[in-house]
Amino acid sequence: MRTTQLFFQTFKEAPSDADIISHQLLERGGYIKRLGRGIYSYTPLMMRVFKKMLTIVREELENAGAQEISLPFLHPAQLWKESGRWDDFTAEKLLYTLEDREGHSYCLAPTHEEVVVSLVTNWVTSYKQFPFNLYQIGNKFRDEIRPRFGLMRGKEFLMKDGYSFCRNEQEMDAQYKAMRTAYSNIFRRLGLEFVLVEAHGGKIGKGKSEEFQVIADVGEDAVMVCGEYAANVEATKSIPPSYTYENSLKSMEQVATPETKTIEELSVFLKVDPQQILKTLVFKLIYADRKEFVAIGIRGDRQINLLKVEEKFGPIETLQASEDEVKRLTGANVGFIGPLNTKLTFHADKSTEPMTNFVCASNEDDLHTINVNWERDLPKPEFDDFLLAEEGDSCPHIPDGTYKVQRGIEVGHIFNIGTKYTEKLGAHFQDENGKMKPIWMGTYGIGIGRTAAACIEQSHDERGIIWPKILAPFRIMITAASSKDPALVETAEKLYKELASYEPLMDDRNERLGFKLRDSDLIGIPFKLIVGKSFTNEGKVEIESRVGEKHLIAPEDIGSWAQKHLAL
Ligand code: ATP
Ligand code: MG
Repeated sequence: MRTTQLFFQTFKEAPSDADIISHQLLERGGYIKRLGRGIYSYTPLMMRVFKKMLTIVREELENAGAQEISLPFLHPAQLWKESGRWDDFTAEKLLYTLEDREGHSYCLAPTHEEVVVSLVTNWVTSYKQFPFNLYQIGNKFRDEIRPRFGLMRGKEFLMKDGYSFCRNEQEMDAQYKAMRTAYSNIFRRLGLEFVLVEAHGGKIGKGKSEEFQVIADVGEDAVMVCGEYAANVEATKSIPPSYTYENSLKSMEQVATPETKTIEELSVFLKVDPQQILKTLVFKLIYADRKEFVAIGIRGDRQINLLKVEEKFGPIETLQASEDEVKRLTGANVGFIGPLNTKLTFHADKSTEPMTNFVCASNEDDLHTINVNWERDLPKPEFDDFLLAEEGDSCPHIPDGTYKVQRGIEVGHIFNIGTKYTEKLGAHFQDENGKMKPIWMGTYGIGIGRTAAACIEQSHDERGIIWPKILAPFRIMITAASSKDPALVETAEKLYKELASYEPLMDDRNERLGFKLRDSDLIGIPFKLIVGKSFTNEGKVEIESRVGEKHLIAPEDIGSWAQKHLAL
């Protein structure tokens, strides 16, 4: 390819909304162009990178036995209502919905579990047809609250999604393992340093689930790491540092605590540690047919993990109750809600179980109760795990291990979803004994654009992107130092032809050499070949790698050099 023919443009400055390096470099290098918030066009440069990534993705998936399909983006609402996710996704406002001329509702695909299940329903009817694994590469649409960071979080984005279909749990586990290996191979071949972390299935379902996280400061996820074990903070089980509570029970007392709405204010006012305070929060659980409120107690120094609340109670949506709702339900203001004589259903985090002589609010403004004790003063509630993990917590999986927190970019996600969708959508088969059973499923996704952005976050310098050879849009940039010197131009053209099979970019623009070199570095081409001064003086061409190694090579040796450095 010649630069004069390439649809391509570079920029000195990144747009003002480009907060992270990958976004800045993708825009400055002319890989993407913003159409609207979270919506981007991909240029030929971007497509060249994507095609390379997808070649690797396809190779590894096909090796693992997966087969490529293509599913529609336009989904009839009916299907999503049958699976129960129409309400889930619309509650979160994630779904783009639309109507056709006859008034039928549709959504634009945020994911494809429903549609792929409808593909296999009635076609796959016997246990003999399992297992199989289908994947596709296509756009997804999600009305994200915070689209940002360029390709990291778009409203429309490119995903590889795959689905396995099995006759039982063991077969599903085997498929999961095969995909885990395939994904590890893919990310390793892309040159990414990643960790596999235990994850939360979120809206897709329960069941074993892991994410492939690329550790990077700009990552939107908190990854809790303890030795070999890692988990997304959303899914982390942890034990908070212990606190020594008194053995002898003191008598319970009410104390006036004016203007002490927060744990910090209260702890200063009463001269107690936050660990001696039981904090109560009220949540609103929204179900298809009703709303419920639940109060949850937690140790004063800790926070509640909303996903754990969701998992325990199974609503469509979980919200923190508003100030007005809290007042209406309890008669007291936020900050003064507690478990004593409450009208609300009260649950507590396990962190509160060992508490003695604790402080809690009295369900009356400006009043707290001190020296409260389980059983003596109020019945022991159901203790569950609602704890949001923090750095320094103990890890139940590693003896004596404590968590450290790191930021991660979730590039891939694999999980076992069992029969959740197939049961709801009626995808059944006849087993070995002639009994009808729902199909077992796994679902697997890789964010293609996000993965490209993660590669850039991991590999760049002040001059631009540093692509690995296997992903670079071109493997070598070739140019004559002066377009006015026919000897240089002629040799550059000759070498361009000779290196044709190594994806060269011939920079034949009538521009200064420095300008061309800067563009090559910005877009991340691994090598630059310059036919310039050294050629005039000693008949050699200069080759410089993207990371600064220089060689002088005689044109007749270029073939063997390329074989060694440019071949994949
Ligand atoms: P996140 O937690 O980041 O919102 P998710 O868990 O909702 O992602 P999945 O449904 O598991 O995402 O989608 C599979 C993959 O698609 C993710 O691992 C991620 O790489 C990518 N992805 C998800 N949402 C986006 C988005 N808005 N923009 C770009 N890539 C995305
Ligand atoms: Mg995910």
